[in-house]
Amino acid sequence: MALRELKVCLLGSPHFRDTGVGKSSIVWRFVEDSFDPNINPTIGASFMTKTVQYQNELHKFLIWDTAGQERFRALAPMYYRGSAAAIIVYDITKEETFATLKNWVKELRQHGPPNIVVAIAGNKCDLNDVREVMEKDAKDYADSIHAIFVETSAKNAININELFIEISRRIPSTDTNPQSSSKGF
Ligand code: GDP
Repeated sequence: MALRELKVCLLGSPHFRDTGVGKSSIVWRFVEDSFDPNINPTIGASFMTKTVQYQNELHKFLIWDTAGQERFRALAPMYYRGSAAAIIVYDITKEETFATLKNWVKELRQHGPPNIVVAIAGNKCDLNDVREVMEKDAKDYADSIHAIFVETSAKNAININELFIEISRRIPSTDTNPQSSSKGF
């Protein structure tokens, strides 16, 4: 069975109102299928892998989580260089995190790999009661930049697997994608 290696990085806003958007929690849910409300940002998953079978191919995701270091913008290229896809996460309960997401899109467009697949994840969709970002506004924005869009909940395991499967569907297969064969940076 063919094996594809896909480097994926997670980007997102720094902490607003004292909490993160849920990047580490998304990775943890995808890789371990669990949720730790007290996930420690300093030991947050900085690199994890998971292999899933999808349509007669094995997809090995090499996942780089910026683990809070997105504040140090200078380090960001280390994560997105060589990435086949970037997941930009915002928190649907914090408008500021959606606003800052657009800076990451700009940064990727200017400095990221030319064909990088961009996915936007509106996380914490289990907190609909305190929502500040309308799903339609985010979807319209994502469509305008040809990005994948999904609302997720790492807590309730909503759309996490779907997000990664959609990413692998969008990435051209290995023989046409020079990034997918790169080992690390
Ligand atoms: P990061 O700094 O972006 O990596 O964010 P974390 O994964 O550390 O999560 C920040 C906080 O949000 C933690 O307290 C998580 O428990 C919480 N969190 C993460 N994902 C979700 C979610 O889907 N729903 C809810 N309700 N809380 C979440």
